[in-house]
Amino acid sequence: MTTLKSAFTQNSFGESELLYSTIADVYEKIEQTTKRLEMTRYLVDLFKQTPKEIVDKVVYLTIGELYPPYVGIELGIAEKLAIKAIANSAGVSEKEVQNVFREVGDLGKTAEMLLEKRKQVTLFHQPLTVEHVYETLEKIARATGEGAQDVKIRNLSGLLNNASPKEARYLVRMVTGRLRLGIADMTVLDALAIAFGGGKEFREEVERAYNLSSDLGYVAKVIAEQGLEGIRNFRVTVGRPIRPMLAERLTSPQEILEKVGGKAIVEFKYDGLRIQAHLTPDQAWLFSRRLENLTNQFPDVVEGLREALKCKEAIVEGECVAIDPNTGEMLPFQMVAHRRGRKYGIEEMIEEIPVTVFLFDVLYVDGQDFTVRPFLERRKALEEVVEPTERIRLSEYAIVDNPEVLDDFMHKAIESGCEGVMVKSIGGDAIYQAGARGWLWIKYKRDYRSEMADTVDLVAVGAFMGRGKRGGTYGALLMAAYDKETDAFKTVCKLGTGFDDETLAALPKIFEPYKIDHKHPRVDSKIEADVWFVPAKVLEVIGAELTISPSHTCALDVIRKGSGIAIRFPRFTGRWRDDKAPEDATTVQEIVEMYRSQLKRVEE
Ligand code: AMP
Repeated sequence: MTTLKSAFTQNSFGESELLYSTIADVYEKIEQTTKRLEMTRYLVDLFKQTPKEIVDKVVYLTIGELYPPYVGIELGIAEKLAIKAIANSAGVSEKEVQNVFREVGDLGKTAEMLLEKRKQVTLFHQPLTVEHVYETLEKIARATGEGAQDVKIRNLSGLLNNASPKEARYLVRMVTGRLRLGIADMTVLDALAIAFGGGKEFREEVERAYNLSSDLGYVAKVIAEQGLEGIRNFRVTVGRPIRPMLAERLTSPQEILEKVGGKAIVEFKYDGLRIQAHLTPDQAWLFSRRLENLTNQFPDVVEGLREALKCKEAIVEGECVAIDPNTGEMLPFQMVAHRRGRKYGIEEMIEEIPVTVFLFDVLYVDGQDFTVRPFLERRKALEEVVEPTERIRLSEYAIVDNPEVLDDFMHKAIESGCEGVMVKSIGGDAIYQAGARGWLWIKYKRDYRSEMADTVDLVAVGAFMGRGKRGGTYGALLMAAYDKETDAFKTVCKLGTGFDDETLAALPKIFEPYKIDHKHPRVDSKIEADVWFVPAKVLEVIGAELTISPSHTCALDVIRKGSGIAIRFPRFTGRWRDDKAPEDATTVQEIVEMYRSQLKRVEE
């Protein structure tokens, strides 16, 4: 096979096109580093080489996607089909592909190894261009219904026939949804700011554009084609999800009120699914907290919003809660979770699990961007624009300026079936901070004052094989908190209790898609797990207390030199937080806060 020295080839119009081999070389370099700065440098080089018209495609491919997440089209083709395509292209039997796969545990590597041995190189070997690869992957992703499998295999074989072994490694990982280069969104934004914006110091502006559009590819294209000017002109757009504003947490009502300047709004914190609804007179979109498109699963919510909203176009946010049709009481989160991800039987579900949305924010109304307005103005606008119905209500709230009243309101919230309260700043600067966790919103959940009676959301980063009764499955999971300062996952406990027998037996299967043969570059652990995972799955955990620990890396050196913080006696509550991205897990900083307030209580 010829080695390709140039990054480009020419198409029939004489325009230069980026070669996929260039991308594959960059992926290889990225894979070999764990340093964020180095990754950024490789990306900057790649973006600079990329023709501007396709920079969005290069960005999507690099994060292992074809579109922004809210489009809802996934590439992931079944391993079985990929095996067929590899067998076709390598000229070997499927059995042989399976054997190699079993040995190396990575289908991308399998393809690479088998293509290296390929005896017959296709006669008219065409170098793969990024555009051709992208178009073909689109065909693969969009093929549905009868004959779809053949279309997928045919297109993938076509790519592999023209691919070098290294290209095949990444193509196969990409189509099976396992590219995973470990590049965080923020790293891509850094690279874009450097490549097209004049320097890393413009990252914040680029990030703002991302927060308003939730579309890395689109941001890349605008900055590549129009520079910072284009980025500064970004506007809230109905139909493009805005990255949600997030809350910090604190454990004492005094501290909370001090943080927000003595006086604030306190609202019920409903326990359901966050929904960001976008409506125009003839279209509607519902986005989850992770920006998946939920529109088709909740037609009742769309209908309800159309009834309740007294404007033409709007973006509103609220919590969607399941309601017991017999008692009218709010049901736990698990119930509304049954309504997501369904393709069929939606009408029955609407009857079985009716929902109410409690609106708590408005981001846009008829041409006016409310994200830049302070919270009190937004709340006022929300009240003006919504006429509450049974299905669409407004969040319950009060204005408080003293800790006892805040505590009373918290009890009222809990008695009504809520998890606690959200305290929101009413300062003039209390804008909607898209995509950010800040002190303008502070959550205050029940039982903060008993030792770790509150739950934390932790990410599984590895597992230990079970013994005895648990032979053949995992005995425990290695759990981590998210360190937002270093953008890494730090271990805090081994979790082995709270799983029912069925879940326990299913653990290896549940984690199969996330298994990797080495510690993930963003995981920081002193403990050697038997199996490592890509940080993806978030579990709700409750523990007895927090303690200083020499073996965990969460908050290492913060409380005592050489020690981290660990959770003692952790137990799985049974709740998979699939609505949370790993970066939404409880942070190391929150755990330090919890540890300190626990100490304060002991001292009292
Ligand atoms: P947590 O999931 O524990 O980080 O808490 C934040 C979540 O609480 C938000 O993402 C919303 O889904 C939910 N929530 C419930 N009620 C409210 C409210 N009144 N204001 C803001 N968020 C709320």
